[in-house]
Amino acid sequence: MRLVILGGPGAGKGTQAQLLCRHLDIPWIATGEIFRSAIAEQSELGRQAQPYLEKGELVPDPTTIELIRQRLLKPDALKGWLLDGYPRTAFQAEELDFLLDQSGQRVDWAIWLKLSESVLMQRCLNREASRSDDAPEIVRRRIELFEERTIPILEYYDYRDRLVTVDGDRSPQEVHQEILGRIAPQS
Ligand code: ADP
Repeated sequence: MRLVILGGPGAGKGTQAQLLCRHLDIPWIATGEIFRSAIAEQSELGRQAQPYLEKGELVPDPTTIELIRQRLLKPDALKGWLLDGYPRTAFQAEELDFLLDQSGQRVDWAIWLKLSESVLMQRCLNREASRSDDAPEIVRRRIELFEERTIPILEYYDYRDRLVTVDGDRSPQEVHQEILGRIAPQS
């Protein structure tokens, strides 16, 4: 199973991603986490990404696309995966399909955790301040970028009949159960 999870900051992507990956036994590939650990290690990737993460801006596409290309070549990605944080722009979505096409693969489902902007904002502000990009003005910018750059991707997947829209304003278990029901193979 190859999945993409979409949702604004605070939508609960990480929580749902981990539940799904455990259930489906597939790796969780989270670009934000990869960038954060690269920054902690001060690797070349980390040095490139750091100024963008600090401001809540998007890391430029060439860096992000190359990161995903290399990650999907790792052996554990052969059995499927769940992408969390990628794609974030229509161009990244197209690049992903292009990459997958080369090996006859495709995204099975794009799961959208739908929440209102005000709920997203509230959730980020209530979250324990473990991330420096959870400061109110940075969260505002991340939500704005989500609306501008990521919302158009929904249409991209919807047009290809691969979009599953889920009401994200419920308990993690309720959301998880609905997702499982919606992506189950139809017999
Ligand atoms: P959230 O979804 O809560 O905003 P993430 O952990 O997914 O948080 O991402 C944190 C930051 O990492 C983003 O604000 C951005 O700077 C960077 N980032 C992650 N994924 C991408 C991507 N696909 N393209 C560009 N930048 C990204």
